[in-house]
Amino acid sequence: MSLASQIKVLGEEIGLNIVRITNAESFPEAEKQIIESAEKGYIPENDYHAFKNISEKPNNINLNKISKRCNPKSILKRAKSIVSVAQCYLIEETEDIQDKNQLLGRIAKYDIGNFYYDVKLKLKRIINYINQETDFKYKSKNKSNYVSLVEKPIAQRAGVGWYGKNGIIITEKFGSWVVLGEVITELELETDKPLHRDCGDCTICIDSCPTKAIISPYVIDRTKCFQFISERVMKVPLAFREKWEDRLYGCTTCQEICPQNHKVKPKKYKPEYGYIGSRIPLIPLLQISEEEFQNYFAYNQIAMRPREAIKRNAALALGSIGDPRAVVPLIKVLQEDSNSIVKGHTAWALGKIGGEKAKFALEKVLKSEEDREVREEIINALKMF
Ligand code: SF4
Ligand code: SF4
Repeated sequence: MSLASQIKVLGEEIGLNIVRITNAESFPEAEKQIIESAEKGYIPENDYHAFKNISEKPNNINLNKISKRCNPKSILKRAKSIVSVAQCYLIEETEDIQDKNQLLGRIAKYDIGNFYYDVKLKLKRIINYINQETDFKYKSKNKSNYVSLVEKPIAQRAGVGWYGKNGIIITEKFGSWVVLGEVITELELETDKPLHRDCGDCTICIDSCPTKAIISPYVIDRTKCFQFISERVMKVPLAFREKWEDRLYGCTTCQEICPQNHKVKPKKYKPEYGYIGSRIPLIPLLQISEEEFQNYFAYNQIAMRPREAIKRNAALALGSIGDPRAVVPLIKVLQEDSNSIVKGHTAWALGKIGGEKAKFALEKVLKSEEDREVREEIINALKMF
């Protein structure tokens, strides 16, 4: 059996759902698309924009960073092959909340546990195996959820899956409910071919995206996508807040409605790492300290996000749910928080929930508030009464 086949057998034994192999050549097509998206403003500013003037592009796009992300050899100079893997994260969602009357925020399915960490440990075992079988002659690198290298073009070229019009990789058996991971290696392995599949005439995800972030097939304006917005401390446009619903983190709407995903049966298990469940009480998050935040979300990807983004998301979810029990805790945030984004979205939430108490608090804070953006948010919130 070839080493490539042995790696695939091992992958299956340790619980990876798909293991395919491609070469380590660069991805010029992906590079071109990323540059185009950055030029059109579809990528959040600090992802690909240079802080220093090192770019030849007039709008200061960091071409170097993009080029590196699209070239596996920037990670491992003598790379020859990439083992591209996928693992299904669709699990049966159970509510572990003791007090069901609490106001709960929704966690996107891909973040109920830290599935990436699980994949990372499995990739480590693949590297150990390669080392053993080749007497440590070749260097290999573990790249699960590695932001410095494009993952989806790798998965597409290796035949793990194909691109959906929502920009997400769809696999034959598990739809797009998968996390991806890669081992980059100096070892030359037999490669697989891409799958020749596509979405056909379907446009359901384009039509269903709440913010119309799917500009055209395969082109996503990330600055409009809830998945990206929920990770970053930024002002959420008023029209998007109306669509926010009870989201606390992430968005899977364009996956939930995808016909390719409907055939996939959720597995019955509790993720081993970073499990937080699919719904989380919102009110305690409003005033959570950094230490509490790190403890609560330990090992989950949310712990890597700014706490202010999660507090803002909690305020948006509470405003959308509209339950008056959130008014007093939100007023406390409006009066005491030091972050203008958190305060501004809290003002919006109070306006949405309404009631005399909320109105009185907004008027009172407006009298002493000095931050221009917070003042503007409060004035807008007061117009909702
Ligand atoms: S993740 Fe949500 S916001 Fe982003 S493209 Fe999909 S449906 Fe739209
Ligand atoms: S909803 Fe339709 S168009 Fe969108 S990814 Fe799924 S199959 Fe493709």
